[in-house]
Amino acid sequence: MKEKLKAIIDEALKQMEASESLDKLNEIRVAYLGKKGELTNVLKSMKDVAPEDRPVVGQMVNEARTALEEKLDTIRTAFEKRLREEQIAKETIDVTLPAKKPMMGHRHPNTIALEEVERIFVGMGYEVVEGPEIEYDYYNFEALNIPANHPAKDEQDTFYITGNILLRTQTSPVQVREMEKGKLPIRMIAPGRVFRSDEVDATHSPSFHQIEGLVIDKNITFADLKGTLAEFAKQLFGEDTKVKFRPHHFPFTEPSAEVDVTCFKCGGKGCRFCKGSGWIEILGCGMVHPNVLRMSGIDPNEYSGFAFGVGLERIALLKYEIDDMRLLYENDTRFLKQF
Ligand SMILES: [Zn+2]
Repeated sequence: MKEKLKAIIDEALKQMEASESLDKLNEIRVAYLGKKGELTNVLKSMKDVAPEDRPVVGQMVNEARTALEEKLDTIRTAFEKRLREEQIAKETIDVTLPAKKPMMGHRHPNTIALEEVERIFVGMGYEVVEGPEIEYDYYNFEALNIPANHPAKDEQDTFYITGNILLRTQTSPVQVREMEKGKLPIRMIAPGRVFRSDEVDATHSPSFHQIEGLVIDKNITFADLKGTLAEFAKQLFGEDTKVKFRPHHFPFTEPSAEVDVTCFKCGGKGCRFCKGSGWIEILGCGMVHPNVLRMSGIDPNEYSGFAFGVGLERIALLKYEIDDMRLLYENDTRFLKQF
């Protein structure tokens, strides 16, 4: 029995020494120490051993088991250490390789233009106010002095949800909602998306953005309007920019004007960009119509104010010399990357 045990141990140790992987090592463990392993078989054959020899044989088997387990542990630890070292060697970082740069997005030209306009007006003490894109006919037209039969309603044809709910054609309803709150004075700009049932072309889109401004206080005059917009133009297009007010008509302001700025490309001499005129039209404005004030519960004898509206896309197109508005909506990264 003793010889048999020794033979088993020697063979097991020999196999362990020769094993080349953790898997192989595990196979050896099962073959010798497992439930059906060689050492277990020896224990099972104890019945053939003389009763007086059994304790001795039992002890020998136990010693053999302990010896084999210790050897297995040693070899396994060595294997694991070697694997770890190989892994570390494989993962060594070559610090001279070029870095993988993360893909960074950036702001859309519309957003850059909006933030620039907001910066200018916030700097002059204006508040930025937003309102709903789905609006009541009353706020979009009627409260702005455009009653049901007014021809201006035709020029601003929009998308109707019901007879009196529509997609707003301008951000002016935000001004009406602000006036109705009755907290005076008001000094605000209202940027946002607006809608018209226009065909898409280089200068039109059924959905675009406006920034409208409103100031209401005591003793506000056209001079305040001119001074404000002149300062806005200078900050947006450069210190030498001049403004020109041309009489115009809007239902919600009286008097009304359209504002041109000197061409920032040629300084007013005339070039291809300004079509030879030296001027570029940028916005519409005027003194708030007394009817509009009255409808929002403000006494026109006590308060006066001015309003203006500028197309956000128009600013972006001018500022970046883009000649087709559609480029702003196509989300072509080759285009957007340029800003
Ligand atoms: Zn020009």
